[in-house]
Amino acid sequence: MFRPEAESASEPARRSLQGRALHELVAHLARSRSEFWRDHLAAVDPDEIRSVDDLPALPFNQKSDLRDAYPWGMLAVPRSSTIRAHASSGTSGKPTIVAYTARDIGIFAEVVARSIVCAGGLADDVLHVAYGYGLFTGGLGLHYGGERLGATVIPASGGNVELQLQLLTDLQAHGLACTPSFGMLLAERAAAAGIRDLSLRYLICGAEPWSEGMRTKLEAAWTQLSRQPVIARDIYGLSEVIGPGVAMECAESPGSLHVFDDHFLPEVLDPSTGSRVPDGQRGELVLTTITKEAQPVVRYRTGDVTSLRRGTCTCGRTHPRIARIEGRTDDMLIIRGVNVFPREIETVILEAEELNGAYAMVVDRRETLAALEIHAEVAAPSVPSGLADRLGRDLTSRLRVTPRVVLHPQGALPRTAVGKVQRVYHRDDATDPLGLDDPDDDC
Ligand SMILES: [Zn+2]
Repeated sequence: MFRPEAESASEPARRSLQGRALHELVAHLARSRSEFWRDHLAAVDPDEIRSVDDLPALPFNQKSDLRDAYPWGMLAVPRSSTIRAHASSGTSGKPTIVAYTARDIGIFAEVVARSIVCAGGLADDVLHVAYGYGLFTGGLGLHYGGERLGATVIPASGGNVELQLQLLTDLQAHGLACTPSFGMLLAERAAAAGIRDLSLRYLICGAEPWSEGMRTKLEAAWTQLSRQPVIARDIYGLSEVIGPGVAMECAESPGSLHVFDDHFLPEVLDPSTGSRVPDGQRGELVLTTITKEAQPVVRYRTGDVTSLRRGTCTCGRTHPRIARIEGRTDDMLIIRGVNVFPREIETVILEAEELNGAYAMVVDRRETLAALEIHAEVAAPSVPSGLADRLGRDLTSRLRVTPRVVLHPQGALPRTAVGKVQRVYHRDDATDPLGLDDPDDDC
């Protein structure tokens, strides 16, 4: 651990520190010079915010707050007290600006240093950073974190694959930080160039969604190129909160990420009601920065779907953990008042050996209450008896709504030739959106 006293603190010690920091944050914002914060917290009495249990009394921040306050409206300190600003390009309209004081940059470097150690990084390492440097927080974030750890950081940035491969070989990097897709590209080119005997031990990947299948591919490809096994670990973050280093998978327990909750308080909420869901249940990740000075966020709605679990990890860290991000709340369906995340359906479909993995869901809105149909293709030449009933039961227990399961022979469902595959279809009239001749359909 980079900072064991924080990373393995007991639950009572953690909660007492968080309660104090949260109170100070709210008091600081409520009396800041920022009109945005004074308005936003006008109905809040800072004296009543003393513990993490008081979080639900605070209003949410959203992405639109940053856009509306562009460029400096959410600053809680004078602009002259900041030493850096990053920007992210919005999908529409203005970019969002995120500013940092010197202390904020120190926190950013520290949480990234902790993240690198989570992946197995050491102060003696050479760390090759192939994230883009610039307005994007990835490159500089990993760079400062690596330096804070004491590693020798190579600011390779993106592009120029041949030079990157030469440096990875000649400087014998132990760690590589990059997007998973760029990591795969580098591995393919390195294999084609006959590169062998690297010193690489770990990859730190993030900034784009990546699956367990991608992890397997990345680890296998880089292990071939290295003298030792290479692990790939997921780093999570977003510029609105600080950048990468909000949460990180450890070497010992892949699949969930430690949230550095002495700086970032996580909550998981039902995105349609805004109330908390029990630990282990999927919902929207909401984050509060309790130590940031320049531009804090309070209960920031990330739109990322995950679940939260508590308890000490095998690595010894006591931070709560989030599951790897399982999609966006924008993809959520509401069926008979229940939130359904398409990813949950995919999990059941991919676990069933009798299916070939092709599937589609139809939200049927012809009646007042929407109904859900799951269509899937079987791998065998004929449909195994009882399979539809079994899948129906598995899906019902997972989703808490009962879908109608329809099985089809191989190749029956529509395929997407270009771009992202379409999984969700809507039905409002007699036209079958899947274009199938469904003999079971009563209509
Ligand atoms: Zn761990």
